[in-house]
Amino acid sequence: MDKLLQGIVHFRKDDFEKHRSLFSSLSREQKPHTLFIGCSDSRIVPGMMTKTLPGELFIIRNIANLVPPCSMSDDFVSTTAALEYAVKVLEVENIIVCGHSNCGGCASLYSENNSDVPHLARWMELAESVKTQVEKEAPENDPAAREWMCEQINVVQQMKHLVSYPYIAERFQAGKLEIRGWYYIIETGEVFGYDRNQECFSLLN
Ligand SMILES: [Zn+2]
Repeated sequence: MDKLLQGIVHFRKDDFEKHRSLFSSLSREQKPHTLFIGCSDSRIVPGMMTKTLPGELFIIRNIANLVPPCSMSDDFVSTTAALEYAVKVLEVENIIVCGHSNCGGCASLYSENNSDVPHLARWMELAESVKTQVEKEAPENDPAAREWMCEQINVVQQMKHLVSYPYIAERFQAGKLEIRGWYYIIETGEVFGYDRNQECFSLLN
């Protein structure tokens, strides 16, 4: 805890001062250009990896960067609410779904026993179709290939879920909204982007 307390004091004295006018301009409004949908994983730091400043990214984080497909629900749907706000109210220009290497959420799809984490297991049902596709396509007895395939196919699946929302599909088809899929490698810092035409990920340079 001490580390966190020292951190907020350092932030106020150093980083905040450096960007004082930016924070002042953001005090009553935000106009982020991008909705970033990423995993809750502590190793994913969207602002750092994109070199963006406060006010630029609207961020949704959840286990395994999932997007529930469009459906009317009376439940408490935080990801869906944040999507609506980002696209309809803030009118972001881009949506990025960012998966990553060594994703614990994706790994849990293959866990033998999730009885201790029932909500996680239920949440990951959103990626069941990913598991099915990986089982068809991954080489047998190659857990590493299965891992990265699952994480990458998951990104593509969530991009599809995004356009199941009529207000997103409409803006996407009209060219008012870009939807991109990224895959981040923790140990190299590399980001691979999904190419819709080639149907594969390639290094973003
Ligand atoms: Zn993850």
